[in-house]
Amino acid sequence: MKGITNQTWQNEMVKFIGEYTGKNPGYSPRDLAFLLEKKFFINKTDAAKLAALADNKSSAGQTGLAAVELNLTFNCNLACAYCFIHDKGAHERMSFATAKNAVDLLLERASYPIVNITFIGGEPLLEFDLIKQITPYALEAAAKKNITVTWAITTNGTLINEEILKFFAHNKINLLLSLDGGQKNHDRYRRTKSGEGTWNQIVNLIPLIKIYQPWLGVRMTVSTEAIDDMREDFNHIATLGINQFIIAPAQGAVCWSKEQIEQYGLNLVKILLDYQELKRRGYQIFIEEFEKDENEYRSWGCRAGSTSLAVAPNGDVSPCSKMLGLTDEKGKYIIGNVNKGINYKLLQPFREPHCQQPRFCRQCSRKCSGGCYAVNFEQTGNHFTASEENCLFWAVCQETKRLSKLLYRTG
Ligand code: SF4
Ligand code: SF4
Repeated sequence: MKGITNQTWQNEMVKFIGEYTGKNPGYSPRDLAFLLEKKFFINKTDAAKLAALADNKSSAGQTGLAAVELNLTFNCNLACAYCFIHDKGAHERMSFATAKNAVDLLLERASYPIVNITFIGGEPLLEFDLIKQITPYALEAAAKKNITVTWAITTNGTLINEEILKFFAHNKINLLLSLDGGQKNHDRYRRTKSGEGTWNQIVNLIPLIKIYQPWLGVRMTVSTEAIDDMREDFNHIATLGINQFIIAPAQGAVCWSKEQIEQYGLNLVKILLDYQELKRRGYQIFIEEFEKDENEYRSWGCRAGSTSLAVAPNGDVSPCSKMLGLTDEKGKYIIGNVNKGINYKLLQPFREPHCQQPRFCRQCSRKCSGGCYAVNFEQTGNHFTASEENCLFWAVCQETKRLSKLLYRTG
């Protein structure tokens, strides 16, 4: 792999396996092997061996955690209109003591040999000094328990500099940039507090970032205003040297119409065709959603509250950061505080989400995992009840996966 050392590639694989097994507790080793083969360009036999190894290790442990999201601050240097942190406690910052307790919680309850810590916010890079403190602490504590830590950070990218990139490269902290499309669509929402767009600033940093992190991913959040430009935006970002995409609609309080969701689906298919063409031409590019089988059933519910928890700057614990961003206390679903104690029994509904399945889902034949708990709560007032919007988006995604599989067969 040109420009990527074997060590970096191995670390990417370990990280990917840790994240995948953490996010999909009911995963099938066959699907994991398929993804490893496609994403890391390894042969079928090696992919199957790696998947079997991961499966033995994860099933040997008891139910427990695989990941924690550390919300280092709810403060942000930008003012993006659709941000899920609606009720920002702008002056709340996580202390080192709280961060240590959050890491201890993860390691005490880890049932996987590889765990993931994600720095999130607000803008987590505002707390780079804390990142520099907590990283060696976590690595040392994990090493004593024979646990490997993989790292991720979700950032708006505007505060990145070479010192930060060196630290991240040294500690294998993987950056995921938020880039919502071309300049027009990105700058519509992702602006500074004085109203200036941030696209140029981020895009100008990409060559420097790629020196330190050759495999770079973006999260492209598509707003309803950006539907018509999705294909162009995808291609534009791909030409900037981006390797991995998470493409998702901006869901939440603002609902999509049926026509808008259909249009989103049609454009996703166009992106799929471009993606296949880019791969055929040798681009190093990966979109997990396009590589999955449409029949893959990831079990009901997501990892939130099951194998993953989120910790707020003040130490409050919730199943997921996106839930922490909700305004309604019931929506946040706080189960305790890392500094004061946690009532794990409250996690029961998230550990057995199938027991919460609404009747209309039990009768549905689509292999859906029931939507995002945070979006569900915003749209229906219940974490486990998805809106009609979710069902439509799911149908669109399944159809795209089905087409993707067909293209593989014929490609
Ligand atoms: S597609 Fe809709 S009805 Fe079907 S399982 Fe998913 S949320 Fe339930
Ligand atoms: S609650 Fe939503 S954002 Fe959180 S892990 Fe589940 S699907 Fe993802």
